[in-house]
Amino acid sequence: MTTSDRTSASASIPAWKGVDSTQADLPERTEVVVIGAGISGTRVAQGLMNSGAQVHVLEQRTRLGGGMATRGMGICSPLLLDPPFRLVSAVGLDVAREIVRFTSENLDILKDHLQPTGVIYASKGPDEAREVDHNLEALESLGIPATPWTSDLIPDTGPGWHQPLGGTLRPRVLLRQWGQDLPVSYATRATKITNDGSDLVVHTDNGESIRADMVVMTGGAQITPWAQDKFHTIRHQAVATSPTEPTLSAPMHIQYGYTSARQLDTGELFVSGCRWATPHLEVGETDDTVIHQKVDGRLSAFLEQHFPGPAKAGITHRWTGIMTSTCDGLPIIGPLPGRPRIISCGGFGGFSWSLAPRAAQAVVEGIVTGKANGVPSCFSTRRFD
Ligand SMILES: Cc1cc2nc3c(=O)[nH]c(=O)nc-3n(C[C@H](O)[C@H](O)[C@H](O)COP(=O)(O)OP(=O)(O)OC[C@H]3O[C@@H](n4cnc5c(N)ncnc54)[C@H](O)[C@@H]3O)c2cc1C
Repeated sequence: MTTSDRTSASASIPAWKGVDSTQADLPERTEVVVIGAGISGTRVAQGLMNSGAQVHVLEQRTRLGGGMATRGMGICSPLLLDPPFRLVSAVGLDVAREIVRFTSENLDILKDHLQPTGVIYASKGPDEAREVDHNLEALESLGIPATPWTSDLIPDTGPGWHQPLGGTLRPRVLLRQWGQDLPVSYATRATKITNDGSDLVVHTDNGESIRADMVVMTGGAQITPWAQDKFHTIRHQAVATSPTEPTLSAPMHIQYGYTSARQLDTGELFVSGCRWATPHLEVGETDDTVIHQKVDGRLSAFLEQHFPGPAKAGITHRWTGIMTSTCDGLPIIGPLPGRPRIISCGGFGGFSWSLAPRAAQAVVEGIVTGKANGVPSCFSTRRFD
C-alpha cells in the first residue's frame, strides 16, 4: 500500500464506544488460561467461571473487546456470508445442514439479546440477481424460511430475499454483560505456550508467565506453530452516518456478502465492506489504525448510490478492524492434534456473532465434561490430518 492510500492513525475510530475494563494482576497459576478477550474469549471464560473453574484471561489490548468485537456491525444470522446455494455447492447439502444447525443453536443462545428483524440479502448487478432463485431453493433445502425481497426505498438494489431468523445486537452491551467480573490482564500479549513437565506455561510479552492445566486460544489469538498455515488476517472497513429517517428495516448483505448495512434504532446508518477495492482484498493486513482510501471511496460511493438520505446527513465515523479467517473459510474449534490441553476456538471471519457463542459453549462443555457435543466435523481441528 502506498502512503497516499492511507490516512493518519487517529482516523480509525469505531462508532461503538469501548467497554470499561478493570485490570487484574497476573496470577502464577490458574486452571484455564483464555487468550483473547473478544466475543469468543469472553464467552468461554464466563462459561468456565459459571461451571466453577478457575480462569484467567490475557488480552493484548487495553479493553474488553478492544481488538475486534466492538468494531463489528452486530449482524447475526443462521447463514454465513456465502450465498446459500454456493455454500451447498461447495460443501454439499448434508454438511451445509450441519453448519445451519450449529448457527441456529447459536441464535438460540442469543435470542434474548437480538432485535429479531431477520436479515435481507439483496443483489447488485445482473449476475447476482440471477442467483436469487437458486438461493431461495437452497434456503428451502436447508430448512430456512425466506421470502423474495425488493425495495423502492433503496435505489439501485436488485431483487433478493428476506430471511426472518436472526437480526442485530449491540456488541458492547453483550460484552459488558459477559465480561463482568472476569479476571483479565490487559496490555498482555501471549507469545508462546511451553510445557514444564506438568503444567502448560503461557509466556507474555512483558516477561511474565502463567501456568495452567489448559489453554484456550480464541478469535485471532492463535499462537502455536500449528496455527501458522491455517489462520490469516483480513482487514475490514466501515463508516457510520449521522442519524436520519428510518430507511432500512433489517440489516442487509449485498454484493455476495462483501458489503453490509445496518441502521440503528437511533437512525445512524453503518455500512461495512468494499474490501474488493484493493487487489488483495485486504488479506494479510494487521493494522486497524489506518483507513484505506480506496475502500473508503467505495464505501462513500455505495452510501451515495443506495442511501442518499444518510449520505447527505454525513459520515461521522470511519474505522477498520482485523478479522481472522482460516484456510478453508470455516472456524477451527477443538483440541490441537497431539496437544489436547490446548484448545482453539477461533477463525470466525466476519460472522462471529453467528458462530462464536455456540462454539464457546462446546469448548466449555469439552473442558468441564470431557466431551463437546454438536460441533460439525468440518469445524474440527482434525480435518487437516
Ligand atoms: C467493520 C466490521 C464489521 C463486522 N460486522 C460483523 C457482523 O455484522 N457480524 C459478525 O458476526 N461479525 C462482524 N464482524 C466480525 C467480528 O467483529 C469478528 O468476527 C469478531 O469480533 C471476532 O471476535 P472473536 O472474539 O472471535 O475474535 P477476536 O476479536 O479476534 O478476539 C481475539 C482477541 O484476542 C486478542 N489477542 C489477539 N492475539 C493475542 C495474543 N497473542 N495475546 C493476547 N490477546 C490477543 C485480540 O486483541 C482480541 O481482542 C465485523 C468486523 C468488522 C471489522
